[in-house]
Parts: sequence; structure tokens; C-alpha cells
Amino acid sequence: QVKGRPGGSFEVFHPWFLSDVEQAANAEQQLRDAIRNETIQPYYQPLVELENGRVAGCEALARWFREDGTQVPPAIFIPLAEKIGMIDELFENLLRRACLDAKGWDERVTLSFNLSAQQLNNVSLPYRVASILGETGFKPGRLELEITESTFVQNAEIALDTIAQLKALGVRIALDDFGTGYSSLSQLAKLKIDRVKIDRSFVMQCMADERSMSVVQAIVQLSRTLQLATTAEGIEGSDQYLELQKAGCDIGQGYLFSKALSSLDFQVWLDNFTEPKRGEGTLAATG
Ligand code: C2E
Ligand code: MG
Ligand code: MG
Ligand code: MG
Repeated sequence: QVKGRPGGSFEVFHPWFLSDVEQAANAEQQLRDAIRNETIQPYYQPLVELENGRVAGCEALARWFREDGTQVPPAIFIPLAEKIGMIDELFENLLRRACLDAKGWDERVTLSFNLSAQQLNNVSLPYRVASILGETGFKPGRLELEITESTFVQNAEIALDTIAQLKALGVRIALDDFGTGYSSLSQLAKLKIDRVKIDRSFVMQCMADERSMSVVQAIVQLSRTLQLATTAEGIEGSDQYLELQKAGCDIGQGYLFSKALSSLDFQVWLDNFTEPKRGEGTLAATG
């Protein structure tokens, strides 16, 4: 890393001239501004019923497009927003906008929203969710909040209590990225969740080897026994679609259907989405 040039001063500002500390401070300031100015927006990825190819809902995914045309992935800015103490503000902005967007769509289209571990350890979360639902008039039954197993590593008691309060609002809870954390099976029995989202890594592997396919089938069957719905993440090919449909998985999500779209594009996608005819194995999506 270049930290400076002997004897010279810089004529042009380039981030790579900055020290790691300066770069980090710079990134944090940019994120602060982006959250304050509500530059970060929700995009929507369709969720499709595997049995009949109908649209079930969408998952809101945060997107940050910078003025220079670059995009910062949520895997980078979500942890950073937690670090600088702005995750709650970001979440509220995004959820409010998503509820308003989703109100314009068909009533049956549900909205899934991610919660980070830190948010579930904040006792005020259920009040804030309730107030956004009240303010926007969005029906709690259409909202599903996604949590991950990492949530329960830090302070399981608060998180469990927060989940119970969210559920009391009529909001549903899904366990995201299932299979990637540890203690997965014990969580399933303990948690009052409604859905299990099978991680993309399993969906990817399951076509390549039979053992992974068996794991996916076992997760679906176990979920059914516990009366939990299942969603498979990261379906990219029609072969994966058919395998997961055969395994009895309820809902699919992935590039086969669509990537995450802006509110406007998602509306267009919904209008153009054609349900497959009865008996047809594959799904015909346009747009
Ligand atoms: P996630 O909740 O598991 O979201 C699914 C991720 O998989 C998304 O990545 C999505 O774009 C990607 N994906 C979906 N289908 C496919 C596929 O067929 N192939 C491939 N390769 N990828 C697919 P994204 O948007 O980059 O988000 C990454 C993670 O960042 C999310 O994982 C979630 O944990 C977090 N995240 C995103 N938005 C938010 C948010 O608003 N709040 C919080 N707390 N976390 C968020
Ligand atoms: Mg998710
Ligand atoms: Mg996920
Ligand atoms: Mg995932």
C-alpha cells in the first residue's frame, strides 16, 4: 500500500493513497451519509411456489449504488452499519419504504425482510416494527422477518423474547441460511419460527452429489414434521427447480426466477410473470 511519496504533495485525491485507518473512516462517513440521505434502497427478489409456479412474495435486499456507478454489497455495508451504530436507522428506512412499495402490489405477495443479529438484541425492535406497520398500514401477516442462527450466539434470551414479541404482532419468522451455522437442529426444536430457508450452498451442491441431495431432503422432511415451511435459496437452473420440487420444498428463490429488482421493475415482473400450465414441469417467467 502506498502511504505517500517522498517530498511531494498529492494533486489528485485517490483513496489508495490513504492509510487503512483513513480509508476505514472514509468508508464509514460515506455509509453514514448514504443512510441519512436514504440512498440505500430496498430491491425485491421474487419467491415462487415450487408446486405450481405461482409468485408467493419477495425478499427485500438492501442495495447501495454510489454516485460513481459502483455498488457496495450488503455483506460489506450491513456489518459496517452495525459497527457505526446505524443499523436500526437503516432498517427503519428500508422497512418503511418496502411496506409502502409492497402495499401497491397484489395482497397475496408477501414481504420478507432480513434482520441482523444485533437488531434482535435490541429490546425496542418490536415496538419499532409495530409503529412502521401502523404508520404504513401494511398488514403484519404479509411480513416475514428473516433471522440467522448467529443471532443466538450472543444473547439468546433477549433474542428469543424479541422473537416472541414480533410473533405476537402477527409477523412471521424465518430461519435464514439454514445449514451453515452450528447447532442447527437444536435451534429448530426450540425456536418459534415459521419457515426454514435452506442455504444456497446446499442447493448448489445437491445437483453435484447425492449425499447433499439427501441432506436437503432430510431438512425438508424434518421441517414438515415440525410444521415449518421451507424455502430453497439460490435456484439457478431448472434442474435444481425440479429436484427441490420433488423433494417437497415449498418455495424457491434464485436467479432462475429473477435477481433482486427495483420496486418499479418488480412491479413489471409481477405483471409479466406467467404461471406454468398444469402438469408442466418447468416455469415460464418473462421479463
Ligand atoms: P440472504 O438474506 O441470504 O439473501 C440472499 C442472497 O443471495 C442475496 O445476496 C441474493 O442476491 C443472493 N441470491 C439470490 N438468488 C441467488 C442465486 O440464484 N445465485 C446467487 N449466486 N445468489 C443469489 P445479497 O443481496 O448480496 O445479500 C447478501 C446478504 O446480505 C443477505 O443474505 C443478507 O444476509 C444481507 N442483507 C441484504 N439486505 C439486508 C438488509 O436489508 N438487512 C440486513 N440485516 N441484512 C441484509
Ligand atoms: Mg435473507
Ligand atoms: Mg438467505
Ligand atoms: Mg444465504
